Amino acid sequence: MQPLKLYNTLSRQKEPFEPINSPYVGMYVCGPTVYNYVHLGNVRTFLTFDTLFRYLTHIGYKVRYVRNITDVGHLVGDGDEGEDKIGRMAKLEKLEPMEIVQRYTNDFHDVLTTFNLRPPSIEPTATGHMVEQIEAVKTLIDKGLAYESNGSVYFDILKYNAGGGNYGKLSGRILDDLLNETRDLDGQSEKRNPLDFAIWKNASPEHIMRWPSPWGDGFPGWHLECSCMSTKYLGAQFDIHGGGMDLKFPHHECEIAQGNGLTDKDPVRYWMHSNMLTVNGQKMSKSLGNSFLPGELFTGSHPLLEQAYSPMTVRFFMLQSHYRSTLDFSNDALKAAQKGYRRLVNGLRVVKTLTYAPDETAQSDEKKQAEIRTALQGFHDALNDDLNTAVAIANLFTLLKYVNMLYMNQLQPAGLGEELFGQLKSSFVDYTENVLGLLEEPADSQGFVEGMLTLYREYKEQKLYDKVDQVRTYFKQQGLVIKDMKHRIDWAYEE
Ligand code: AMP
Ligand code: ZN
Repeated sequence: MQPLKLYNTLSRQKEPFEPINSPYVGMYVCGPTVYNYVHLGNVRTFLTFDTLFRYLTHIGYKVRYVRNITDVGHLVGDGDEGEDKIGRMAKLEKLEPMEIVQRYTNDFHDVLTTFNLRPPSIEPTATGHMVEQIEAVKTLIDKGLAYESNGSVYFDILKYNAGGGNYGKLSGRILDDLLNETRDLDGQSEKRNPLDFAIWKNASPEHIMRWPSPWGDGFPGWHLECSCMSTKYLGAQFDIHGGGMDLKFPHHECEIAQGNGLTDKDPVRYWMHSNMLTVNGQKMSKSLGNSFLPGELFTGSHPLLEQAYSPMTVRFFMLQSHYRSTLDFSNDALKAAQKGYRRLVNGLRVVKTLTYAPDETAQSDEKKQAEIRTALQGFHDALNDDLNTAVAIANLFTLLKYVNMLYMNQLQPAGLGEELFGQLKSSFVDYTENVLGLLEEPADSQGFVEGMLTLYREYKEQKLYDKVDQVRTYFKQQGLVIKDMKHRIDWAYEE
């Protein structure tokens, strides 16, 4: 088997994955700023890391997955000036900031559960880690890497670089270029240098989210939150840090600078970034007005949607592309994904019913056995190649072909041998449900569908053909079909 390799944004290449303290893996993913409903673009990023979490667990690692909730300090415009995103919503809606936080945290959890994402091992909030953040600010000041100015504290980038730091190494930006770009922008600033970023901000009188500190009432900088929460639960150096591509600069660049400043160590071994979900080539984003809320997707109620799509269809659609490529939303691609997902889930239904029957007369089919073994291996090899879910799914479809042959009696279990048959059966379920997280979505209450099928069998026996047609119509209305085969009558999702 190929060893697991992951693309590291820092080295710009795929690297063999070697955890610092195998079999334990520490993984941190930047969570949402909870001031708004989660859109489908956000889901893509969290799905990428859910898949990585699932796969690492599947291959035997013990993963501590930390994903935070940003509930303070992320300012409108993503910079160091402006209103707090949550404080602003609280004012607009005349609610407590923590009511805003709770509302959108609940939505975030509901949405991710709907898409069958596993919860992280720890989900810390920024407001719950004020003590750690104030301590970190003090340490950076003591080390001469940060300075106070009018009650705010800034990280000193020139000092950091003069002391051997390399601000820009993650995003590939050159400090001199950055300095030239920003030189004229910020003449009045309380910063020594326009590139310096806030690790603590002074709260103006109208700012509602505020905490006492040695520098007066204020609140923590967005970048510092992630540094404090990740190192608290995963240590000064940990294995994987993930997030969307748009967080690479400045958010993650600043995390590297802070981590090095605080502990003299590079905080993260593998930096991973998921690419954007786009609509007509443009990043899906709330502010551009091209975003879908999951609810709109499930009901089809958005001008860009030609029909409703189920959560698992969308999950399948996203997994069909590699996480480092952009993925463009399209109705055609989603309709194709719906077909693909239904084919897979039909396989999932039937594979569970297959049983091994020894048969002395059955011919051992070496060619088919080899193809199944290659596909079982291929599934892992694809995921080991920087989590290539697209190729993994192609291998799963090869396995599906054999599942269907067994189901249709075109292949006898004994032709594969008991061991390989068992492996095909258990791996097909395990890969689909546990690694890719694709579950069956019952189109109707199963008992009712099964009951209708019993009626169908009876009507057929009694040759009541108009009744037979009525039952068929009912199934069609539910997006189901009746499979009238020689050896059995069954139902399936319409593909
Ligand atoms: P935010 O709450 O805006 O900080 O976003 C939460 C996560 O979603 C971050 O990791 C973003 O990088 C990610 N994200 C935002 N928009 C998109 C998009 N269109 N496609 C993929 N990921 C996105
Ligand atoms: Zn973060």
